[in-house]
Amino acid sequence: MNRHFAGAVPLFTGVLRGYRGWNVDGLGRLRPLVDQSKIWQPGLNIASCGVTHRFESTQVNFPKDRIFEPGASLGGGLVLGPLDRVGVFSVENGDFRTFFVDRWVPEEAHAVPKADCTCGFWAYFRGDSEYVHAGHVVGIIETQGRIICGSSGFRAQKARIVALVDPTMHWSWLPRRWHRSPVLREYSDVFAKLRTNYPSVRFYPSLSSAKRDFRVQAPPSSMV
Ligand SMILES: [Zn+2]
Repeated sequence: MNRHFAGAVPLFTGVLRGYRGWNVDGLGRLRPLVDQSKIWQPGLNIASCGVTHRFESTQVNFPKDRIFEPGASLGGGLVLGPLDRVGVFSVENGDFRTFFVDRWVPEEAHAVPKADCTCGFWAYFRGDSEYVHAGHVVGIIETQGRIICGSSGFRAQKARIVALVDPTMHWSWLPRRWHRSPVLREYSDVFAKLRTNYPSVRFYPSLSSAKRDFRVQAPPSSMV
């Protein structure tokens, strides 16, 4: 498995739930942690791939297919050529054995998610993952369609938000005058907007209470 959740058996069919985090904008709309130009919709979201280029690596054997770009340097393991062509060689028993030429190539149109890409909606099997808590809001999504599983999470083609954590639900016991503080009022405003924008989502005071209603479980290990 690589870091993009590309398992040996890449496709899982069925419905999977996972934890994830979002950022929230001033209008109470949830945005991905990485590409913040997109907005999560209430109901079903369908992922598209925004990756336009990828690295393609070609292995070349020394010395027959020796390739040196103008300006190449052979000291220390890197051969540097033009920006779209960077070579890395390995030295074995004092001889150059292999040489890799990496170049940027346009990514072809493909179904989402793709094994060696980063596209799709990301989610994790553990609620304590640091990636889940990297944003401002955490919750649980339910996914379907094409799904690529890894050991810690997955990427999916279609997803809907089913649960969000609203920490202000814990605040009812606080003294009334605290609720007038600017910080608490700002938090309360954000979560009031979220409830308006995502009316079908259920809100919980914590992830542990959310998972009682929306169980998150990794598929059997034989499938990833
Ligand atoms: Zn892709």
